[in-house]
Order: sequence, then C-alpha cells, then structure tokens
Amino acid sequence: MSRLILDEPGKEILFMGNEAIARGALEAGVRVAAAYPGNPSSEIIGNLAQVAEKMGIYVEWSVNEKVAAEVAAAAAVSNMNALVAMKQNGLNVACDFLLNLNLTGIRGGLVVIVADDPSGISSSNEQDSRSFAKLADIPLLEPSGFQEAKEMVRHAFELSRMTGNFVMIRSVTRISHARGNVILGKLPTDFPSPHFDTSRPLCPLPTSVTHPALHKRLQTAEEILGDSEFNEYWGSEIPETLIITCGSGWFFSKEAVDILGLRPRVGVLKVGTTWPLPRAFLINHLQKTKKVILFEEVDPVLENNVTELYAQHNLDLPRIEFVGKNSGVVPSTGELSPDLVLGVLGKVTGVVPKIDENYANLAKDAIENYAPQRAMAFCAGCPHRASLWAIKQALALDGRDGVLFGDIGCYALGIFPTGFSQLKTVHAMGSGAGMACGFGSLRQFGINQPSLAVCGDSTFFHAVIPVLVNAVHQNSKFLLVVLDNNATAMTGFQPHPGSPIDAMGNATNPIVIEDLCVSLGLETRVMDPFDLKGTISTVCEMIKDQTKPKALVLRRECALVSGRKGTLKYQVRIDPQKCIGEECGCDRLCTRVFKCPGLIWDRSAKKARIDDVICTGCGVCADICPSHAIVKEGV
Ligand code: SF4
Ligand code: SF4
Repeated sequence: MSRLILDEPGKEILFMGNEAIARGALEAGVRVAAAYPGNPSSEIIGNLAQVAEKMGIYVEWSVNEKVAAEVAAAAAVSNMNALVAMKQNGLNVACDFLLNLNLTGIRGGLVVIVADDPSGISSSNEQDSRSFAKLADIPLLEPSGFQEAKEMVRHAFELSRMTGNFVMIRSVTRISHARGNVILGKLPTDFPSPHFDTSRPLCPLPTSVTHPALHKRLQTAEEILGDSEFNEYWGSEIPETLIITCGSGWFFSKEAVDILGLRPRVGVLKVGTTWPLPRAFLINHLQKTKKVILFEEVDPVLENNVTELYAQHNLDLPRIEFVGKNSGVVPSTGELSPDLVLGVLGKVTGVVPKIDENYANLAKDAIENYAPQRAMAFCAGCPHRASLWAIKQALALDGRDGVLFGDIGCYALGIFPTGFSQLKTVHAMGSGAGMACGFGSLRQFGINQPSLAVCGDSTFFHAVIPVLVNAVHQNSKFLLVVLDNNATAMTGFQPHPGSPIDAMGNATNPIVIEDLCVSLGLETRVMDPFDLKGTISTVCEMIKDQTKPKALVLRRECALVSGRKGTLKYQVRIDPQKCIGEECGCDRLCTRVFKCPGLIWDRSAKKARIDDVICTGCGVCADICPSHAIVKEGV
C-alpha cells in the first residue's frame, strides 16, 4: 500500500514536501484534484493520482492550469473539497479565472497550491507568486517545513470553508522537493454531500456587491488567522536584532543564530500566514527591537508589507532600522541558502562566522576537481537534437535567415549550443507559435525571412491550438513544428490529451495532433526526426513557399522512455581508420558541434569514441559524420 494513505495516526514517515502536501489534502478530505504538470509542483498530483482509486477521489492532469482550476472549482462550488496545483508560471494561466472566482466565492473548500521556483532551477523565470494573494484579496499561507506543509493544507481547507473563498499556499523548491519526517493524522471517512445549489447562481457581477463581499471574506480570514499557530517566535525575549522570515528562511535563520552564538541577542519571527498579515503579532514583537532583518525568497513581499505596517503604527513603535532586499543587504533575487543568511546576519551583528579553512579548502578542491562539469544539454539520443539539427540544415539550405521561435519545455535548450542555438526566442508556453504566427503576417512590411516555431506535444494541447485557429483565420504564413516525444517529458512523463491513458491510469481517448491540424485546414506532414535527410528536405519544402500556415509533426519517443524499454535501435561504433579527428573539417563535428553525450573525444588516441554506457543507439550521429567514421549496425 502507498505510504501516502497509511491510516496510522501518529506514525512518522519520511515524505517529500509535495507528498506532505498531498497527505495534508487527503487528511482534509479532498475529493477532486487537478493540475497541469510543472516543476516543482508536479509530485502533488502525481502522488494523489496513484492513490485515487483506493481513496475514491478524482484526479486529473488537465490540459492547462486554467482548466485545472476550473475543474477543481466545479467541485468546490458543489460543497466538496478540491485542490489545484501549479508552478508559478501556471498561476498566470489560471489567473483570469481565479480573479473572477474570488468575487463569486465557493461553497466547499478550495486550496490553490503554487510552487515557486526561486533561482529558476527548473523554470524560465523566478516569479514570486505571493503578490497574487494581495491582488486577489485571498489568504496566503507559506509552509516552512514538511510537517507544517501537511498541517497548513489541512488548515487551508478549513479556512476556505469558513471564509467561503479559495486559499493559496505558496511552496518553494526547497520545501516541495526536499524531504523530512511527517507525523500522520487521521484520514476522514465522512465527507460533505456534493450538490450544486442552483437557486444561487455564481456571478462576479455586480462588482459593487461582490467586491465588498470579497473584502469581508478576507477580513474574516484575518480574524481567524490572528493567533494562528503557523506564526511563531523563537529566541531572545528582548532581541537587539529581530529576524522576520517565512518559508525556508525559518530554519536557515535559526541555524545561523546558533552557529554565531547569537541566541541571547537575536530573535526569529516566522510568518506562516503571509496575507493578510498577523498585525497584532508583528506589532507586539516590533515593539521590542531596534533592528529588523528580513529574509524571504524572491521579492520583498513580506518586507514591504511589514514596513508598511510599521509606517502605519510608527508613533507607537520605537525607531527601527530595517535591513533586507530594499536596503540592498539581502540579495534582491534568487534562493535563500544557509550560507547567505549566515553571511548577512554576521555582517549586520558584527559577529564573524568561524570558518574551518581546512574543510573549506577540501570542499573547494572536491568541487573544482572531482564534481563532473555538466553542460545544459539534451540527453544522449534525444530526438530534439536530431530535430534541431535538421531545422538548422534546412534553414542554412534555404538561405533566407529564417527565424525559429520557441517556448518552454525540454526543447528550450535549443537556444543553447546543445540545440545549435537555433531557437531565437523563449517565453511562455505556446508563445513561440504565437510569435511565429505574428511574424508570418509581416510580409507586407517587406520581411522575407521564413517564420517557424517549435512546440512540444503537451504544449501543443496546453496553449498552441488557439494560435492555429488564429493563424488559419488570419492566413498567417508560418510553419509550426511539433516536437512530439509522446510525453510531458520535462516534468516526469505525465499523460496529456494525446496519451492513451489518464492520470489515474485509465484508458482514454487520445487526440491525434496531425488530425487536429488537418481538421483546422493546415497543410500537415509527419516525419521521424531520426530520418535526418527526409526531415531536412521536408522542412525545406514546407518553408520554401510560405503562403499559408502549415504543420510538421516530428514524432519520436523520448530517449529516456525508449531507454527504459530497452529498445536500442543500433549498435554504434567509431571506425578509427576513417575518423580523422581534428582534421575532419569541422573541428571534430561530432563532439564539438553535435555534442551528443554518448560521443567522447579520446584525447590520447585523438579519435572520437562512443560511450557505450550512455549511448542509446539512435544512430543519428552516423548520419552527420562527414568521414562516415561512425558506423551503425542493426541489433
Ligand atoms: S548513436 Fe550517436 S547520437 Fe545516438 S545516442 Fe549514441 S552517440 Fe548519441
Ligand atoms: S567521428 Fe567523424 S565527426 Fe567525429 S571526429 Fe571523427 S571524423 Fe570527425
């Protein structure tokens, strides 16, 4: 049985943060959960999907975050508890709906989990989603650890039901993807009866009524959260310096205080209920100090709110020096780390951290000399490498300086040398297609550059279909290349509408991308990108005469999936007699330009070599070697 549904209250389990969130939802009696995959949030729905049948809940990977929010909201307006999860970029997609739902309110419980990605470790941006709570006038909670993440989700459902509105929880990478012990609570057996009350329609109009009602609900939340256990104080009773923090900053701050031996002089105040602010709690502690340091990831959201609160009450409070992102002492972007917090605290208090020089040197040596240097690169045998190689060759043959617009997904690496720097733009999901559509309409201004876009198969369904409708209607001249690797690969191979199964593993109706393109009236072709010659000539043909929108589906299963299935296509080796290495005319084309990690440059032999451990046997490199030194043999 999955550990997630162990019915043993009091038992301690090691959970990933996202598992703790999923468990909290189950303990709160969640009945419906939906999301579009996006790291660092993906495991929340992935875990719930695995236990869906046993727990009698409904879980889906929706086509995008707005639909996911709508699916969850349908349950939440029908007296059920529902959860929707997303990463920070996804909140922007769901925003349009959520900024109307807040006005109508709900009748069950709805928790919106947004997992932010400070430092953009697996994202195109590091947007701080917390400002949305203020914009939407909804309560926002921020967990600082794993137990708290579980408890907060449970509490957020209660708060949602008590206030009649959805509640947002902001996680971050170091909470969602780290692991810690969590004590299990009880799993419920009774659930509120689901029913949509048709006598009371839900409509945000008139705003003269719904907007004040929204403010009233937020005020109720503020009253409920006033003495919340999620706001905590630790350290000196009369602190010379007060640290105010939230999220991962809580443990980093306490550790830094102890390392520097500052417990008698410093206090740490954790705000778990970030919006609305726990005003009385904060004012009580602000009265006792003259210096405040604020630690949070990414934007100074808490800092601005606390300084605003201070300004409102400055007559009753001592003169306080605030140190944080606004004063430039704490970096204004990126993740927090124990070292960063330690450094800032040491600087502000004048207590220098003791550094074990020997240990520091050993660590430096290990990083510089033993940790493998990894480039941002496609995996060995990745079909996207072949696709981008074919596009690069086709654009070179075409000779009109064609522009390839891109977006986010594994293939965003195509903006780097691993994708031969072919992508010229990377913004939001589907925006490559949208921009290519726009660029393809600029002919009247004398632009003659071919317009192309790439998108992944999951992105096609998420955000590209409306672009194609627009392109056909406007007769925009561009080529959409769908890089179909049969999975939402970047986030963990979740199914999408083109997959034959749903999130819970049930057989479903896959939607065929090329059928959809044809039904919209696009000239559509399908190719295997490992057929390099065929793909190059198809791209050349399709961009030669750009008179209408066209689609090319480059279909080949993700190398990681075929690797797991053990479907090695070729045995590949280098013929040392034919390999001319540095002399091959392209400065070792295979390892310097094509750069599949399965290819190695043997410095002593001055020849290329295949790394049999990494090579997936795709055979594509055999087609690019100008000396025909790479030999592929069928297995
Ligand atoms: S066959 Fe060549 S391109 Fe394919 S994975 Fe192996 S080394 Fe890389
Ligand atoms: S295998 Fe081919 S491309 Fe690679 S170094 Fe040898 S000759 Fe050049």
